[in-house]
Order: sequence, then C-alpha cells, then structure tokens
Amino acid sequence: MILIDGKKEAADLRSKLKAEVIGLKKKFNKVPGLTVILIGNFAPSQIYVRNKEKSANEVGLKSEVIKYPENVEENIILKKIEDLNKDQNVSGILVQLPLPKHIDKKKIIEAISPQKDVDGFHPISVGNLASGYEASIPCTPLGCYLLIKKIEPNLSGKKAVVVGRSNLNGKPMTQLLLKENCTVTITHSKTKDLKSECLKGDIIIAAVGIPKLIKGDWVKKGTIVIDVGINKTDQGIVGDVDYDEVSKVAKALTPVPGGVGPMTIACLLKNTIDCFKRSN
Ligand code: NAP
Repeated sequence: MILIDGKKEAADLRSKLKAEVIGLKKKFNKVPGLTVILIGNFAPSQIYVRNKEKSANEVGLKSEVIKYPENVEENIILKKIEDLNKDQNVSGILVQLPLPKHIDKKKIIEAISPQKDVDGFHPISVGNLASGYEASIPCTPLGCYLLIKKIEPNLSGKKAVVVGRSNLNGKPMTQLLLKENCTVTITHSKTKDLKSECLKGDIIIAAVGIPKLIKGDWVKKGTIVIDVGINKTDQGIVGDVDYDEVSKVAKALTPVPGGVGPMTIACLLKNTIDCFKRSN
C-alpha cells in the first residue's frame, strides 16, 4: 500500500512555487500578494491563519493579515474588501471562515473580486470551474486532485466515488474528476447503501466529517482512497476513513493528519500565484 505523504508533496509544491515566485519577481519586478482577513478570536482560525502567513512568507509571497474584533460591523469588512479589490499589490484575498453570526457569509464571498478569489468560493469561480474555464479552485479539493494525479496520472475512464457534496469539498472535487474524464458518483447523507456505491470506486474521496465512516469492506482491492475528514475524537484526530481496515485493501491512502491537510495551504499559495499571473 502506498502511504500518500501529504507533508512531502506539499513541501515539494512549495519549493516549486518558491522558484516560480523568483521568476515572477524578475519578470514583473513585484511578487504576488496574499491578504487574509481574520475576524474574532476563534482559536482554530488563528492557527490556520498563522500557518497560511508562515507558508506564504516561506515561498516569497507578500503576505498581510488584517485582524478585526468579533463585533466588527459587516460594512467595515465589505469596505475593506472593496479597497483590496482595487489594490494592485494584492493578488489574492481570503476571509477566514467561519464568520461571526452577524456577518453574512454569502455577501462577503460575493464581495471578493473573482480575479482575487483565492478560495474559489465566489459563484463566478464555481461557474468557471463547472464550465471548464480557468478558475480559482477551492484549495482542499485541488490538493486532493494533485495527490491523486501523483499516484495515477491518467484518470480517464476511472470510476470515482465522492462522499459528501459540500461546496467546499465534494462538489468542486466532482468537477475536477469529471474534467479528467472519470465517471463520478457523488454521494451524501441521503444516499442509499453507501457501502455498495463505495465498492464501485477505483478512487474514493471521503469528505464527510464522520470518524472512520469508510470501512475496509466498503473498498475494493486496489482503490486510491483520499481522506479529507478531520474529526476530533477521544483517540485524537481521525479521518472519515477507517485507516487500519482500509490500508489493508487500498492501493494508496492518505493518512490523517499528514495527508490532505498540508496540501490545502500549499494550494492556497498556488492559487495566489495563479491569480497574480492571470492579472499580469
Ligand atoms: P460539510 O459541509 O458538513 O459536508 C459534509 C457532507 O457529508 C454533506 O454533503 C453531507 O450530506 C455528507 N454526509 C453527512 N453524513 C453522511 C453520511 N452518513 N453518508 C454520506 N454522506 C454524508 O463538510 P465539509 O466542509 O465538506 O468537510 C468534510 C470534512 O472534511 C470535515 O471533517 C472537515 O473538518 C474536513 N475538512 C478538511 C480539510 C482539510 O484541509 N483536510 C478542509 C476542509 C474540511 P448532505 O449534503 O446530505 O448533508
């Protein structure tokens, strides 16, 4: 079984991006800039943003974090996004989710210029991806896609089963696999007999949020299994895949932690660089 080392793949991607930034600096005499807006004191968000800033600096991007208190008015955030949309030094804008309840997530996502939408959540980015046009692709499914391609460069005709249909993970993952000519089944909480759907997959991507949902006898021999789940349990952080069972049958499997997670941030940096390249 191939244990997919997300930390190593992410480090490889970061070093490629670092070289690319050096080239862009020579060519344009400036580097891509990532601005992150962080609202409130939610501890996991603070950690994510710190890691994003550290990684952005590591590859040579210009990075800025703008912090607001929990009770900041929505209008102030919208005005700041409007200013950042116009700022030539800002290639990518990310507003860290979740947001406080009084701030409308949809309004915030739609305020970010699609040209600077490094999260790929804007409806125009979503539509572009679905239409097969160039688009910012949500970072986690993009990371999963790159890991799958590393194991199996030719995905044409493969049967892929995506478990979970969120806008963040399952839906963009489905689009990426369709683009690669996979036959994709997308499943969700109302799917009948999830086990038999999973057993059809040459590739399974689990993005659900239920610890160890995918069992060993749900996976046929030789399947590539990508575990997006991050679930806190008494035994520590576990994925949506029963690692001990599935590792006995899968061809390749991502561990949790150390699989998809590290790729997510690396793909945010890639998206920032891609936004810069498209705007120059
Ligand atoms: P989400 O928005 O809660 O969506 C979960 C999806 O799973 C929904 O489509 C839901 O179906 C489906 N589902 C729920 N119960 C199911 C069941 N019993 N059988 C089949 N499908 C079921 O979650 P998300 O934001 O996509 O996140 C999923 C997991 O990935 C979480 O553990 C999250 O922490 C993790 N995550 C990891 C990363 C990373 O970097 N590794 C990034 C983001 C998220 P319905 O649509 O019918 O409700």
